[in-house]
Amino acid sequence: MSLFLEELIHPDQACAVPGRKITDSLLLIRDTICLARDRNFRLVVLNLDFEKAFDRVSHQYLFQEREPVSPVHGLAFGEPSTVWCNVNHPTLTNRLREMSWMVAHEILPVRSVMHSRGMAANSTCPRPGCGAPETMRHLLWECSAAVDQWAKAGSLKFPCLPAREVLTAQLILYGVSQKQDCSRDFSKQWLTLAAIKDAIWTSRNLLVRRHMQIPPVAVIQMAAATIKSATRHAQDTATKKNRLCAHSDEGAGATRERSKQRRPDSPGGLL
Ligand SMILES: [Zn+2]
Repeated sequence: MSLFLEELIHPDQACAVPGRKITDSLLLIRDTICLARDRNFRLVVLNLDFEKAFDRVSHQYLFQEREPVSPVHGLAFGEPSTVWCNVNHPTLTNRLREMSWMVAHEILPVRSVMHSRGMAANSTCPRPGCGAPETMRHLLWECSAAVDQWAKAGSLKFPCLPAREVLTAQLILYGVSQKQDCSRDFSKQWLTLAAIKDAIWTSRNLLVRRHMQIPPVAVIQMAAATIKSATRHAQDTATKKNRLCAHSDEGAGATRERSKQRRPDSPGGLL
């Protein structure tokens, strides 16, 4: 039966058909939303009975158990596991993790990706006067707009970034470099890199959808705001966790105390 499923089942249905993946459906929805935004037409997405099947899958499991084995295009053997750890790095917010995941899979909906899926008229970079194909690497690293943005980021704002001359595409895209920083330095650096990539992507989308030209300084300000909010969120989460731990310790202490009172003859009660 499985031999014929691909011919019998509509191409838009991916689940349980050999050679198709559930992520194909997610990408189809994501690309359709992008297409509607780019062409400015109205779209309604009807999502039926999706929750029970997929909502309870642990994202931690997806990232930690499955992703480390996936190869990453252009990286040497052994490096992909670092990439997948970085995608799920605790310092990143969910939005930045999603961005990092799409970068690692090379499925950020840039024009070359959308064109290959029949959802963009061409694959050309939307920056005025550029004319190169808009790949993910082009958008985030090679385009002259990206070059200006990284130059501004390094010189103006973020001392945790390496000097512009030693900043590499592998470091900014995947967090992989020859030189290993200590984990505290890397956390700060990786959050900064992710926030800048997110700001570059946001400025590109504002250009495509609203014809707004965002100057490099404003892109870097957007990234700085993202870092500030992610840092505050991480601090709030840590405080809540500490409070919960303290509360459960107190609860456990009280239980132990009650237990001692109930059983004064127990070894614990004699101490
Ligand atoms: Zn370009």
